[in-house]
Amino acid sequence: MAKQRQLKPYAMSLPKPSHMPGKVALVGAGPGDAGLISWRGVECLRRADAVLYDYLVNPAILRHASAGASLICLGRHKKPEGRGQKAEGEQNAKGRRQKAEKCSEIHEGKEGARIWQQAEINEELVKLARQGQYVVRLKGGDPAVFGRLLEEVSALEAAGIAYEIVPGITAALAAGSYAGVWITQRDVASAVALITGHEGDSEHAPPLDYAALAAFPGTLVFYMGVTTAREWTAALMSAGKPPNTPAAIVRRCSWPDQKTIRCTLGSIVEQLEAARMRPPVIVVVGDVVNSLSSRYRVGSPQAPRHGEVTVPESWFTGRPLFGQRILLTRPVDRTDALWQPLTELGAECLVQPAIEISAPDDWQPVDAALARLSDFDWLVFSSVNGVQFLLDRLLATGRDVRQLAGMKLAAIGPGTAEELANYHLRVDGQPAEVYRAEALAELLAQDARGKKFLLARASRGREVLAETLRAAGGLVEQIVVYKSTDVAQADPEVAAAVKAGRIDWVTVTSSAIARSVARMFGEDLRRAKIVSISPVTTAALRELGFQPTAEAKQYTMDGVVAAILAAGGTK
Ligand code: SAH
Repeated sequence: MAKQRQLKPYAMSLPKPSHMPGKVALVGAGPGDAGLISWRGVECLRRADAVLYDYLVNPAILRHASAGASLICLGRHKKPEGRGQKAEGEQNAKGRRQKAEKCSEIHEGKEGARIWQQAEINEELVKLARQGQYVVRLKGGDPAVFGRLLEEVSALEAAGIAYEIVPGITAALAAGSYAGVWITQRDVASAVALITGHEGDSEHAPPLDYAALAAFPGTLVFYMGVTTAREWTAALMSAGKPPNTPAAIVRRCSWPDQKTIRCTLGSIVEQLEAARMRPPVIVVVGDVVNSLSSRYRVGSPQAPRHGEVTVPESWFTGRPLFGQRILLTRPVDRTDALWQPLTELGAECLVQPAIEISAPDDWQPVDAALARLSDFDWLVFSSVNGVQFLLDRLLATGRDVRQLAGMKLAAIGPGTAEELANYHLRVDGQPAEVYRAEALAELLAQDARGKKFLLARASRGREVLAETLRAAGGLVEQIVVYKSTDVAQADPEVAAAVKAGRIDWVTVTSSAIARSVARMFGEDLRRAKIVSISPVTTAALRELGFQPTAEAKQYTMDGVVAAILAAGGTK
């Protein structure tokens, strides 16, 4: 059925044999971007009863877990002070978004979630697996690279619990692809050393041999080296590594706020301090930093001076909307058409639905119309929601699309037509270029006299279609096939981001959304730029006292994306 095809993969969990004993999968989540987890990792998540995840893990990855899985954020499990912090219990899918955000808060240094000790994590893994659960331990990057894998594996082995390890993309490798620092450039480096800047972190770690590192014939990559930069850079230099050795500082690699500074070994500390860099950061030291295009060579005339690398340093940061934060205000399950292209263009998308879509209060008028569909000449849809709610109702009431035989179908635009195609239905009428009610009305009015139109509509909306068709001699019946209501309050974090001017664009894709967004954010909305989907929506915004910065030329989601791009994306 069409509706099912739209289900996202993460909504489907794999069947789980009930007799299976518990197991733990230690899964690498990759460096940040949610797409950088392995396929096997996703399979494990879909099967999971419980997911224990690190603070560095992108919360978006948790969507692969089934709705019933408990999601447990482990925070930054290093500092003993964490024990006294507010505890938060396990949480199921309902609270997963808030939960995931809490975990990222820890990363940002705010309070809110409990911080787990390594021993507690080990105990929890064993406990849950003993209960017969399939447990995923989701770790940032690769689980075996500075990931305390041995501690967890030893605990599982001691308890006789089966486990699996799924590799992930470690930060050093991600820096190659996403920040243009290719750690094994031919002719420059034939070897790579992954080094912890936190050697004192564990009493078991052997001390670093700086003489050997200084003489190492290849690239040095320092993990966890921000707070200790003064020590390790000094040690490397006094062991003979030249201070002018090229270096790259890569923060939050593969995240929408990735930042890279190209400098030299001797200026790393200064650069970290000047940019107030906080973890997670890796520092790459070696000639590979200079081996790419001459544009980025440290000291080359084209290169920006140290610490000023804001020009694109890679395909990733060079994407047209990189660094832009865009607030999507459509209902949650309607955001894909904006989310996907905007994210691909480099933007960071946040979602704050301004309206909610639900079933109508009363199906009776719809059912009555469905019972006599053959009375009508045209069935007219002015939204994707209309298609879904009406056709799903048709099926839910024991009918199927044969009921529509003989009727003509009209759609307001390509999105609505596409949704009908998902139900294997082809439209007979759709405005050629301008996707709005007036254009659809004009098209249908050409041959409306004596014709019967059934309009599938929202609980609120414009009357122009019905009025125009009636004026043209048509007989019009309207049925409310879905309800649209305003979301009363914005998520506090989104509201704070808008207030602080941290949102670059707010998308407004209908007049109803315009009104709700204006109510939700009030004057704070002026701190962001607004992109409007059409002149009708722009008029609604103006009436509310807001002037959009950009307006779509084509009144579709793609049109909105194009309008943001045309406006240059910048603040
Ligand atoms: N297992 C992880 C490393 C865990 S140690 C991996 O394989 O990547 C944590 C350190 O990893 C951070 O302090 C930082 O040095 C590095 N790191 C992890 N993700 C990073 C990212 N997206 N960008 C830059 N450094 C990152």
